[in-house]
Amino acid sequence: MRPDLDLLVPSYVREFEPYIPSKPDPELMKLYGCSKLFRLNNNENPFGPPPAAQEIIRKFPPPQAAVYPSGDSYYLRHVVAAFHALDPDQILVGNGANEVITFVIKAFCQEGDNIITADKTFAVYEWVATFSGVGAKLIPLRDYGFDDQGMLQAIDEHTKILFVCNPNNPTGTYWSTERLRAFLDAVDGRQIVVVDEAYFEFVEQDDFPNGIALIKDYPNLVVFRTFSKMYGIAGLRIGYLAGDRQVVDTIRRTCVVYSVNTVAQEAAVAALQDNTGHVGRTRALVREVKAFLTAELAKMKLPVINGEGNFLIIKLPGSDTLAYRKLMREGIMIRSMTGFRFPNHIRITVSHMEAMEAFVTALKKTMAQ
Ligand SMILES: *Cc1c(COP(=O)(O)O)cnc(C)c1O
Repeated sequence: MRPDLDLLVPSYVREFEPYIPSKPDPELMKLYGCSKLFRLNNNENPFGPPPAAQEIIRKFPPPQAAVYPSGDSYYLRHVVAAFHALDPDQILVGNGANEVITFVIKAFCQEGDNIITADKTFAVYEWVATFSGVGAKLIPLRDYGFDDQGMLQAIDEHTKILFVCNPNNPTGTYWSTERLRAFLDAVDGRQIVVVDEAYFEFVEQDDFPNGIALIKDYPNLVVFRTFSKMYGIAGLRIGYLAGDRQVVDTIRRTCVVYSVNTVAQEAAVAALQDNTGHVGRTRALVREVKAFLTAELAKMKLPVINGEGNFLIIKLPGSDTLAYRKLMREGIMIRSMTGFRFPNHIRITVSHMEAMEAFVTALKKTMAQ
């Protein structure tokens, strides 16, 4: 007999609309009839991993695959801790920053609680809350940035966590050190404040805060970092959170060990220790390409939202989902933003000049269609 899913499944799971990932490249190329595909949808680093991490991946001994990884990413936590002058017990590593989002929500929220974040930001905070039976209060962006006052006003007795994406994906806006401190002062330890710094390594502004350096002053602050963006190992799935020791001890209870594989742990160590200028090289590319793109888009009279990070948003005169299909036929994959409550906008990843030129050519062609 089939299970009675109406009876078995909580309503918040039944009603949740699952995210549909894109198909593998060969399937997409068949579907859209293109012979080449530039993926500009996930903010990946076109340089790939730093050379030291590439070497680790190349040299991984195949028999080692039979052996479980370190359950708590022991060596990586020590390297990360030394990097930030923290204690290794203040670091919790996950299968991508995505997984550490689930750890934090599970650790602090029960049904009836809520989290607060923005309406147009990385959607996973909202998704994990929603399918866990936790409310998500989405505060509209103000001038494309997180609205600190709006978030503070939305706090109620059931609020457990405030999520701030700094800089924000997809708008690239950020809170300065002063603004983040003022927010943390106002929260005053009553809730957990998560600052997601997935794009930290791309930002070169003097007033941009290093959240991890603020943890000693604000024990309710939890900071996320990932190896998927600047460090180019998105495919290996690894990211971490940092926080006050007691807070991290609490979050650790909700984390399933062995979710982070050995290659990812070792490649992440190598990525942090790389001394070939990977970060500087990537930043230089992002600067150069953003200058090229903004000039081209200005010529096309298309409005752009261009902040920090290796991505920017373009406002189109028409449907973004239609533009997605047209660009796919030209071998260009962008992120259509309707699903992020940004209708008629697309987000594109800053990549190699070859891909950027192909994108501009394809955009011109599809807009004339
Ligand atoms: C890409 C991204 C992440 C997730 O990174 P993973 O470590 O690959 O799970 C988290 N937050 C933001 C804002 C991102 O853009």
